[in-house]
Amino acid sequence: MSEKTLFSKIIEREIPADIVYEDEQIIAFRDIAPQAPRHALFVPKKPIATLNDAEPEDALLIGNLFLAAARYAKAEGFAENGYRCVINCNRDGGQTVFHLHLHLLAGRALHSNFA
Ligand code: 5GP
Repeated sequence: MSEKTLFSKIIEREIPADIVYEDEQIIAFRDIAPQAPRHALFVPKKPIATLNDAEPEDALLIGNLFLAAARYAKAEGFAENGYRCVINCNRDGGQTVFHLHLHLLAGRALHSNFA
């Protein structure tokens, strides 16, 4: 059996995290090294390694990740000012944790610089 991912350990409460949202399919917690004043990670409980590994059957789950992030942004009151949702994939995408996750960044103007 493959080793548990860091995020599976957070899901199973083996590692602490500042959890901001959870439902049957998804957990969200604050990023440990925030790149913006608001930076949360929306993570499917199903341990899909990268976006490349998502299957057609995961379409609803991935859609729900985005919808959960948008609901959270609205509930927290920063949806109107705006935010950014990003999924990094593999080396050139800057992925470091190989358990699919959506970054939600907000709280400052995020320029269109994808460096
Ligand atoms: P990636 O680079 O894979 O797209 O994003 C991984 C994110 O996970 C990074 O932004 C990093 O700061 C965050 N991260 C890494 N380890 C931990 C941890 O132990 N706890 C939390 N909350 N975030 C983490």
